[in-house]
Amino acid sequence: ASTAKPQDIDPSKLVIHETKEPKALSDPSTLIFGRNFTDHMLTIEWTQTDGWRTPTIQPYQNLSLDPATCVFHYGFECFEGMKAYRDSKGSVRLFRPDKNMARFNKSAARIALPTFSPTALTDLLARFVKLEQRFIPEQRGYSLYLRPTLIGTQRTLGVGPPGSALLFVIASPVGPYYPTGFKAVSLEATDYAVRAWPGGVGDKKLGANYAPCVLPQLEAASRGHQQNLWLFGEEEYATEAGTMNLFIALRDKETGQKELLTHPLDGTILEGVTRDSILSLAREKLAPEGWRVSERKLTMAALAEASAEGRLLEVFGAGTAAIVSPVRTISWKGQPVDCGLSEHEESGEIALRMKAWIEARQYGDEEHEWSYAC
Ligand code: PMP
Repeated sequence: ASTAKPQDIDPSKLVIHETKEPKALSDPSTLIFGRNFTDHMLTIEWTQTDGWRTPTIQPYQNLSLDPATCVFHYGFECFEGMKAYRDSKGSVRLFRPDKNMARFNKSAARIALPTFSPTALTDLLARFVKLEQRFIPEQRGYSLYLRPTLIGTQRTLGVGPPGSALLFVIASPVGPYYPTGFKAVSLEATDYAVRAWPGGVGDKKLGANYAPCVLPQLEAASRGHQQNLWLFGEEEYATEAGTMNLFIALRDKETGQKELLTHPLDGTILEGVTRDSILSLAREKLAPEGWRVSERKLTMAALAEASAEGRLLEVFGAGTAAIVSPVRTISWKGQPVDCGLSEHEESGEIALRMKAWIEARQYGDEEHEWSYAC
């Protein structure tokens, strides 16, 4: 048997098979999230003996897998969600890809799938995105959503660590989440189902975490709400909004101190890249204005109390898709909790400023280490 160390991902070995049938570009205004895909996909196979094989960019196509493949039976799948942006000079940029690669590796390790060099995959992502850049519309607000995915491909019904895996990346051109400006949403606090728990896997980006969240989402929608709010524990901590992290701005009951807070990384929330970016920007730009910036738990009761006392300034979700999503109201135990927006406002000030600050770095208007030139 060979004693050679299994190969890590090697970007210098990249092989490119370009499509002979380039797709026609869709009218950007008709783009629906996650429905259109580019010409190619990036694939890298892994086996326990060889490690990572030749990275390949090939025409976008179906996968062919035996029905006994372990991904279909035991959920050996994890993924990432990130975007590539076109800057004002026409170059393409990724936003904090190191964060997505670190999270991808943590997710993979948790379900006994292989890990990889984060910089090697970022390098390949950059080459893939450059090849597909004609799909990124020029206008501000548009981007190319990237979906790196890792699946176990071993053909077996035995439950065990997959001896083979496939990493693939597909790309989907997307438009602005709010094409006509912010639209504040209504949430329903879910009290009959839990998304994640300490020691569980809700802090990993596993496909298996997402399917069970659709039913509470449908329930909320049936009562007229755009998203559900995930509560945790008997204390009913407000943790996440749908598939976004949650930010709350309020004033202290005693001192009147302004505070921007989000739930801590205690295993019950996903470690959002947008969440981290907002915390960092808040410490950089809001703290000097007198804001306290905290990662701490807040109960739904405390949130409702702040609302009733006029101390709740704003609430918003945070994630790659929309950057920020302002919340108008939360339905809790059948009662509406007002989240501080006036009737004619669709966003609070913090959410608006955060969106502008983050976009400036995503689109390269502000040169910053978060922006990765492809
Ligand atoms: N929470 C959940 C459950 C999510 O699926 C996402 C989207 N990945 C987020 C939060 C936001 O994460 P990010 O800012 O990295 O998109």
